[in-house]
Amino acid sequence: MNKLTIKDVSWKGKKAIIRVDFNVPVDEKLRITDDTRIKASLPTLEYILKQSPSKVILMSHLGRPKGKFVESLRLTPVGVRLQEYLKEKVLILDDCVAPKIKEAIDKSKERVVLLENLRFYKEEEGNDPVFAQQLASLADIFVNDAFGTAHRAHASTEGITHYLPSAAGLLMEKEINYLDQAVNYPKRPFVVILGGAKVSDKILLIENLLNKADAIIIGGGMAYTFLKAQGKNVGNSICEKDKLDLARTILKKAQEKNVKMELSSDFAIAKGFDAVETKRISDEIPDGWEGLDIGPKTIERFKKVLSTAKTVIWNGPMGVFEKDAFAQGTKSIAQYLATLKDVTTIIGGGDSAAAVTKFGLDKAMTHISTGGGASLELLEGKELPGIKALTDKEKYKEIEKAGIR
Ligand code: AMP
Repeated sequence: MNKLTIKDVSWKGKKAIIRVDFNVPVDEKLRITDDTRIKASLPTLEYILKQSPSKVILMSHLGRPKGKFVESLRLTPVGVRLQEYLKEKVLILDDCVAPKIKEAIDKSKERVVLLENLRFYKEEEGNDPVFAQQLASLADIFVNDAFGTAHRAHASTEGITHYLPSAAGLLMEKEINYLDQAVNYPKRPFVVILGGAKVSDKILLIENLLNKADAIIIGGGMAYTFLKAQGKNVGNSICEKDKLDLARTILKKAQEKNVKMELSSDFAIAKGFDAVETKRISDEIPDGWEGLDIGPKTIERFKKVLSTAKTVIWNGPMGVFEKDAFAQGTKSIAQYLATLKDVTTIIGGGDSAAAVTKFGLDKAMTHISTGGGASLELLEGKELPGIKALTDKEKYKEIEKAGIR
């Protein structure tokens, strides 16, 4: 990667300001119900703290306070949990940019500081330059370790990079390396598995991947638009009738580009989402019936395609995996991926990541992306503002040589 990472910086005596993703779920008693994101930040924090920096200042958003101070969205519980993991006291501040903040940081004995929820200020999402500069004035170097917000140009992800040298944290580096590498320089055959509800959410993704993949497997709700476009009956299955032409164009392009397209061909059908008792396996979807999962023949055919792959990217479940009755397709594909040897398996954010984790197979994958929207945009071939804005390694060498910040 040509972008600066925390491994390229000598941290001794320096002040780091780190954008982390501490947007954790909290219950009505303000107890954290899942601290995965706090734990995920530890490698970067521990890496920098080992090198005797003078301060490590952390900043994050939590929920959607919409530019106002909201008591229930303070980051205090996060700071308390972080203290337990770091085994050192964290200075938890009640603001992020007021003049008293700089003073409090300079006077404090604590090495680690947590600023208050950035989104208490509308200037954060508005990417306000004065707000960004105030954040920047607290430190010498900016680190972005919040991949999940990298597709947004906010003051703490993009604005701040105009005022400080900016490096990727370890989480961010991992995301860029895996996703970028897999899409742009894949070991072939490169097979993409797409599913989920809608074709319309994934048009740009499909168009980008048609130029890169050797095969595209399509299951889940989005398959029915393609099947309908081929003239098949899809009954009451989810289907975007205004996207039939688009689906035909995509199938034609795939043929021209020699990309194998594999669509589902048998299904777990039912007389509706909640009519689980009517579930049966069928090659056809009669009127009044709905396709809610891929069937056993499709599973076997998809596995056969996957057996040749060296790189696999998966975005979107194969069926309504939230219901056990329609989870088999998603589960079987996840289980099969888990058995593959010497294959890079990447799960791209959101629902597919939730599914793989639900089946306890997350550890068996090469990489599970932490950012739904951000990973989708990377797979669409877009440059993410939070990544683009990071300092180039070469540029940082010049900055260091010149001895200026
Ligand atoms: P997405 O956010 O586009 O990846 O869509 C994920 C959602 O698609 C999940 O909540 C699934 O329940 C849903 N889904 C997957 N397959 C189907 C299907 N055959 N019919 C209806 N919904 C589906």
